[in-house]
Amino acid sequence: MPRITSLECSRCHHHVDSDSARTVCPACNGFLFVRYDMEEIKRSRRRPDAGSLGAGIGRYAAVLPEFAASSLGSGGTPLLPSRRFAGLLVKDEGRNPTGSFEDRGMELAVAAAKHYGVQQLSIAAEGEAAASLSAYANAVAIGARVFLPQDVPMPSHLQCVAFGAEVTVVLGSIRDCERKLEQEAKNGFNLSELKEPFRLEGAKTIAYELVEQMGWSYPDGVICPAGIGAVAIWKAFEEMEQLGWVAGRRPRLYVSGSDTGSFESGVLEASGGRVVEGTDALATLLDWARHEGILLSPEGAAGVQTYQALLASGEVAVTDRVVLINGSRGLNYAEVIARALRLRPKLPSSLPVGGIITPQ
Ligand SMILES: [Zn+2]
Repeated sequence: MPRITSLECSRCHHHVDSDSARTVCPACNGFLFVRYDMEEIKRSRRRPDAGSLGAGIGRYAAVLPEFAASSLGSGGTPLLPSRRFAGLLVKDEGRNPTGSFEDRGMELAVAAAKHYGVQQLSIAAEGEAAASLSAYANAVAIGARVFLPQDVPMPSHLQCVAFGAEVTVVLGSIRDCERKLEQEAKNGFNLSELKEPFRLEGAKTIAYELVEQMGWSYPDGVICPAGIGAVAIWKAFEEMEQLGWVAGRRPRLYVSGSDTGSFESGVLEASGGRVVEGTDALATLLDWARHEGILLSPEGAAGVQTYQALLASGEVAVTDRVVLINGSRGLNYAEVIARALRLRPKLPSSLPVGGIITPQ
């Protein structure tokens, strides 16, 4: 595994060492990118091939820092062809341990925290990242404090509590959660988005994985989850080219939605892609369950709408190879889908375990 040469600020390009747990740039609060000696990696390591072992993020150990892997694992998710759109492939991140793409970044970020001797982690998140942090912190016996907005989906809330995190539900938005964290979790190391370098480093493995699954070639476009996805993918493309692992034109990156940060917007623009607004994602979600046998997340369904909008505008041709990242499993939004299906779930009157009916 490669040695980290420095952590480089994405804004002012100041370099800092990685000898202790780092948050953001000490000079300007910018996000820190992990940098390696790429020439050394190029000389000493080859890209994984069909004969190499390992399916999780550790398959790309050549380009990741040397921290102990989690017993939970993450990554190694399938690339599924659509039944109806010949050029569309779905990278199904719902297969991760807590059911979302967040697991890749959390596996590495929590391992880094453990390596640096951090005792307490904290996060402000809308749901899935907090559930993921709770699981990986539990796996290495580090404390976790999570701040969730009041409308957090139940499956994420449930996972945080079940994995033993200290949960605070905040009346308000994600911004209110961030403020509450700053007031109340001063002793914890903050793993919220873009607050430390290693979540993005784990997240970048999705790009290595999908390029390898396409025979070490680029697709024409990638529809990314909102958040750090596009930035992480772009960093991986840059690294793969430096190592000579892939050649050709980089894919255009698209994000569905409206709430993109400036960091993310810069990457989309550089790729020739953009933000595309979606409409009724729930109808698309139900349509894909019925006709494709895949229970997408609402965000994944919005990604399908993005794909269809790009086809309609001619920006993407039916023959183009496009990867849609389904960032999480539909069951992480069970109540939302139940409502759309007009189901009113009630608690079972008994709990079946291995064929034995146990009284509650
Ligand atoms: Zn800086």
